[in-house]
Amino acid sequence: MTDMAPWLEAGRDTLNRARLKGRMPHAVLLSGAEGVGKRLLSERIAHALLCESPNDDGDACGRCAACGWLRAGTHPDLLTLEPEEAGKAIKVDQVRALCADLAITSHGGRYKVAILRPAEAMNVNAANSLLKTLEEPTANTLLVLETAAPGRLLATVRSRCQQIPLPVPPPAQALQWLAGRGLEGDAARLALDMAAGAPLKALELHEQGAGAELEECLGQLQAVAEGRTDPLAVAGDWQGDGEAFRLRSWRQWVQGLIRWKLASGADSGPLELAQKLQSVAESVDCKSLYAFLDRLDRALGTLGSGLNRQLVLEDLLTRWAAMPARRQKRVTQGSR
Ligand SMILES: [Zn+2]
Repeated sequence: MTDMAPWLEAGRDTLNRARLKGRMPHAVLLSGAEGVGKRLLSERIAHALLCESPNDDGDACGRCAACGWLRAGTHPDLLTLEPEEAGKAIKVDQVRALCADLAITSHGGRYKVAILRPAEAMNVNAANSLLKTLEEPTANTLLVLETAAPGRLLATVRSRCQQIPLPVPPPAQALQWLAGRGLEGDAARLALDMAAGAPLKALELHEQGAGAELEECLGQLQAVAEGRTDPLAVAGDWQGDGEAFRLRSWRQWVQGLIRWKLASGADSGPLELAQKLQSVAESVDCKSLYAFLDRLDRALGTLGSGLNRQLVLEDLLTRWAAMPARRQKRVTQGSR
């Protein structure tokens, strides 16, 4: 893991300097958007602490026994805590077990590192249980909390961690990094656009073939707005696993349209997908787009709340269909 993402270097250097001075904090909070590289950085930190002879830049040697265990994912001093089921809470029993394990002397005679991801998944009891360990840490232990939503953590947990915010990189830097991984040109810009600028997320979306899925979703939005498709049918189609992803993408496109309108149509960055909706949005004012953004936010906020999703989606898509672009389109078609 020597090819560190350049936008993570500031955070890496801060912790590496602390390591070299023997002043590692006991707890670190890595906060940043999904896919910005929190996992990459936390593993990098862990490897530097567990490797038998890391260099001064914090690169693990890759040759010692510890590095072998790390590669195999079997190092006994690296603990990772995630929800038992994706999307569910991290429970108090899990945190207790982790803290008990952390308190035991390390197997390799070096550090013990525990990574919690995502930290905001801890329920209140779990977070309170973690507080005890944060207040009375064992020597040579490091807790790394990863979060995309630091505001959802207990303030007392946040304040006991050294905070390392990880920014989304400038697009040029992200595109260069993606090019180094074989993702270039329009495909790279599209993926980065979908990932809200987070490079690792962009790569993941591209590899999952999300581009094709989103093209379809965008085509449906276009068809609904132009009165070519029944919004209720699309609502039925969108329910289920992909709903959150579609709503978030839709939100991003509407945001892109607002930026584009505010820039008076000037090129305002990589908005490959949103630009396809320009014809739809040309006759809509920013105020309506902002109002629609609020509706999308409310719909996203009620995901998983037990609210009837068909009704939520029908409401959104019907309103989308009623955007002024549709009327204009019809007039245009009628005049032919
Ligand atoms: Zn090593």
